[in-house]
Amino acid sequence: MRLAAIEAGGTKFVVAIGDEFGNIIKRDSFATTSPQETFKHVFEFFDGEHFEAMGIGTFGPIDLDLHSPTYGYITSTPKPNWGNVDFVGPLKERYQVPIAFDTDVNGAALGELNFGSAQGLDSCLYLTIGTGIGGGAIVEGKLVHGLLHPEMGHILLAKHKDETTDGFCPFHKNCLEGLASGPAIEKRWGVKAYDLPVDHPAWEMEGYYLAQALMNFILTLSPQKIILGGGVMKQTQIFDYIHQYVVEMLNGYVQKDEILHHIKDYIVYPKLGDNAGICGALALAMQAKRTA
Ligand code: ADP
Ligand code: ZN
Repeated sequence: MRLAAIEAGGTKFVVAIGDEFGNIIKRDSFATTSPQETFKHVFEFFDGEHFEAMGIGTFGPIDLDLHSPTYGYITSTPKPNWGNVDFVGPLKERYQVPIAFDTDVNGAALGELNFGSAQGLDSCLYLTIGTGIGGGAIVEGKLVHGLLHPEMGHILLAKHKDETTDGFCPFHKNCLEGLASGPAIEKRWGVKAYDLPVDHPAWEMEGYYLAQALMNFILTLSPQKIILGGGVMKQTQIFDYIHQYVVEMLNGYVQKDEILHHIKDYIVYPKLGDNAGICGALALAMQAKRTA
């Protein structure tokens, strides 16, 4: 089966044709510029292609309420020119196939469940730690939506003992994104995150913040697997701190082997690597096809 996939990021779009096994047959990517110009590239890629369904995983916030007049829109994003943009409408009109539209992180969670490190499970949590921080969750086989959709990057955290800043989120200051996103690291230390040496104290602090957040998510969502992607997690030394701190912070409260004895297999880097997002969009397309 041929499926269309769009991974819409704040800096770049990835478009692909793939199949139900997570194979990418053809792909392209381009910078996210104005909506008009970006959609022109999207149309150029998909026009003339045959596909049975389309999946879109996008930055947000987005409107997922099927009964809302602005369903399928990117809503209140601070990204210039992208507020109140109808994403699904023009694609639906042009291609007339079932379309699944969701957050990039919900897509990535579904991708890891279908094709990656959460295969065979019926719950998982996917977090991206990049320009922003977002989380997507699957519980009892279903993506979590609700009132809007989860915005896990904005939970409040206690500050590290050596923290010198107030946190950088314009809405909440010391939320997860305000303390642990790539830009937060760069503002705190005054250098690009990828220029910080592996033994820099930044990474222990990063691990401390991510572990706090994960403790909260473990206790609220009870995921069977946690997957951490995004540019910042390329610093794989952070995983050691996270593993150690999650066990310490939970302090024996959750008596499960995954946490007590196999934490390194419980909190992992995406098996799909940099393809987590686009494979997630493919998984969304599969879902659109199944439920059409
Ligand atoms: P986006 O979130 O924009 O989709 P990324 O997930 O690549 O894209 O996140 C970009 C952020 O990740 C940048 O702000 C940068 O600080 C950080 N980053 C990217 N690569 C690395 C790296 N190798 N080491 C540390 N931080 C990185
Ligand atoms: Zn915030």
